[in-house]
Amino acid sequence: MADSEYTPDVNSDAQGLTRATTADEQPPDTERDAVLCLDDVTKAYGTETAVTDVSIDIRDGELLTLLGPSGCGKTTTLRLMAGLERPTEGRIELADEPVADETTFVEPEERGVGIVFQDFALFPHLSTRENIAFGLTDADQEETDERVDELLDLVGLSGMGERRPDQLSGGQQQRVALARSLAPEPDILLLDEPFSNLDVRLRVEMREEVRRILKEAGVTAVSVTHDQEEALSISDRVAVMNDGQVEQVGDPEAVFEHPKSRFVASFLGQAGFLSARVSQESIDTTIGSFQPDLLKGLADEYVGAMVDVLVRPDDLRLTPAPAENEADGRIVQRQYTGPSFVYHVELANGDVVRCLHNHAENFDVGQAVHVDLVADHSLAWYPTE
Ligand code: ADP
Ligand code: MG
Repeated sequence: MADSEYTPDVNSDAQGLTRATTADEQPPDTERDAVLCLDDVTKAYGTETAVTDVSIDIRDGELLTLLGPSGCGKTTTLRLMAGLERPTEGRIELADEPVADETTFVEPEERGVGIVFQDFALFPHLSTRENIAFGLTDADQEETDERVDELLDLVGLSGMGERRPDQLSGGQQQRVALARSLAPEPDILLLDEPFSNLDVRLRVEMREEVRRILKEAGVTAVSVTHDQEEALSISDRVAVMNDGQVEQVGDPEAVFEHPKSRFVASFLGQAGFLSARVSQESIDTTIGSFQPDLLKGLADEYVGAMVDVLVRPDDLRLTPAPAENEADGRIVQRQYTGPSFVYHVELANGDVVRCLHNHAENFDVGQAVHVDLVADHSLAWYPTE
């Protein structure tokens, strides 16, 4: 992106992916101190570099999600935070103290970091209470009982303390795993693909629950996922990773509406790109000319240049073209998603864009169509490569 410092548009939640914020939930204070800082961290395994120059600050009380495709370095980043791996280069600080750099390495058990494993890793022979109490080694019996009761209540398992893991559902096991890692009051909680072991329906329910629990506990947390919808819906901020690097960090609306790169735009939801020529007066595309303010943060230096404009499926509308020579393009593919269709339209200049329609509005593959831009917000764009 030409200018990465877009001002997030507070009104731009047209995609319906914005997380619901409950009334009693305090937004994390962006001025608050970072609990955990990664500074130019690189991790190589032999000749393979898993993570390259990652710099990221985790703020007090926030839930930050590392989001990216399989193999992009998410788990490695989490393991570096936990102290399960040592960086090849760079520095990690926890609560303003170095925990990993050239000369220092603090072991995982000394870091005050809690981990929720993908498979929950509960002790099968211990009860729920005993599982949760496992990390409370410094407390006497009375304190332990009190803390366990508090946690059972927090995770919604009061009355189930005596059950063993095999007597609990997947969602309940996840609640126990969360309670167990919260018990010793870690400075930061790390969750690797926390919903991957749950069936699809439970996943949506549990992500709201996990967010509620983390917020009620007031813990700072880093979670990892390859699922963009999950990341956008549970996180205070999202760090999008690609090929071992962080491409963009921001709140969910900002990364979705103002992606800094084509990769981020394409990874977060469906993306099409419309070629456009920028002039002083207008933005000219194959589907029409628009006012320059259509493009977010457009600078004068781009007058005369070609750019690619990001259009999401709900930014466009199709109508049947009365005649072939009046059409903007033709439908090359039709994707049925249940309540809606996504049509892929090849435009006269060869660009392919996608367009979302209600299932009742039916077009045929091969049909000639008009394409109208109906976005009610300005659009992200990238200089043509
Ligand atoms: P993700 O969690 O995003 O799927 P990982 O952090 O697990 O990605 O892996 C990032 C890259 O580092 C991958 O190419 C993976 O093969 C490599 N990698 C991870 N762990 C090791 C290891 N212990 N030894 C060698 N290569 C590794
Ligand atoms: Mg992983």
